[in-house]
Amino acid sequence: MRGRIGRLVAGVPRTTPFVAPEALERRSGAPFRLRLGANESAFGPSPLALEAAARELSRAAWYGDPESHELRARLTRETGAPASRIVVGSGIDDLLGLVVRCVTDPGDAIVAARGTYATFGYHVRAYGAVLQTAPYRPDGRVDLDALARLAHERGARAVYVANPDNPTGTHHDDADLAALAARLPPTCALLVDEAYADFVDPPRSGAPLAADARILRFRTFSKGHGLAGLRIGYVLASEEYVAAFERVRVQFGVNRVAQAAALAALDDHEHVARVRREVARGRAEYRALGQRLGWRPLASQTNFVAFDVGGPHAVARWVAALERQRVFVRRGCAPPLDDCLRITVGTAQERARLAEALAVAGELETVP
Ligand SMILES: *Cc1c(COP(=O)(O)O)cnc(C)c1O
Repeated sequence: MRGRIGRLVAGVPRTTPFVAPEALERRSGAPFRLRLGANESAFGPSPLALEAAARELSRAAWYGDPESHELRARLTRETGAPASRIVVGSGIDDLLGLVVRCVTDPGDAIVAARGTYATFGYHVRAYGAVLQTAPYRPDGRVDLDALARLAHERGARAVYVANPDNPTGTHHDDADLAALAARLPPTCALLVDEAYADFVDPPRSGAPLAADARILRFRTFSKGHGLAGLRIGYVLASEEYVAAFERVRVQFGVNRVAQAAALAALDDHEHVARVRREVARGRAEYRALGQRLGWRPLASQTNFVAFDVGGPHAVARWVAALERQRVFVRRGCAPPLDDCLRITVGTAQERARLAEALAVAGELETVP
């Protein structure tokens, strides 16, 4: 007997949004010395979060609370959104899949910037929807006008904006996003992926954009809080969307260790403040480093800097030269971002080692 795969999934092309550093290490047979390609926090989790996680581990035999009740109550204090408008998931990646599933039927259009966060497009294809893209502006910012136009042309169900954006690091303020939402077709949702909200300067208010019920904001403990490996994030949304998510989400998908760690992480404001300061210092160092190499840094409000290094071939050479020295970085994938090298801010020591690796790679670059 042969198994059968349903038509929807059988028609999905096989893509991997991001090849993990572990997979790259297995391919090359050597570990990375510097892991600066996935925008993980170089500064780790709060000690309070680690203690809470360690305590909770002894209860690993029990399922977690499927309602993440305590965490949602705590997030209400943090964001001002009532718990009835918060859904916790196993990271933003999980919640993005959920929203695509809930707002589209196969064949429906979803709009995003061309070359933005690839996992989003992965979900769009997986649920049989169609990703329609508008190019970035030449300065590396997401072209909100172009997204609004495209949403009308295609009758889109949703527009996705990562804010700050990945891979560029650029940022729009709340007023720009509210104006975008107001210009979208009446049934089109605005999905604002705020994975890097903890790094925006001045700090973002926790409050949802209350004015428009079609705006959903996605947050995570993966970046500023340094808990990427525990997989936990949340979405702020109107009750209508929350009711849809509740019908189909994986009920026990968020583990109890992650819930406990996230809860404790929210109490360590000092840790996040320290990470913000260190990341700002690192970004300034990276900009100076890039200038010495003749690279143009994009304006970043995140824990990474994207550099225009002068063309797709130059990017490919730098990525390969760094990989030979066991340094993991990433590059943009669609024009105009295929000129861009994206490097996560490391610790001071990691930044020094990166500078050395770039000097060696630069020497090799100039050898004919
Ligand atoms: C890192 C990242 C995510 C992943 O968030 P998780 O909560 O770890 O799933 C989502 N969106 C963007 C734009 C990111 O850069």
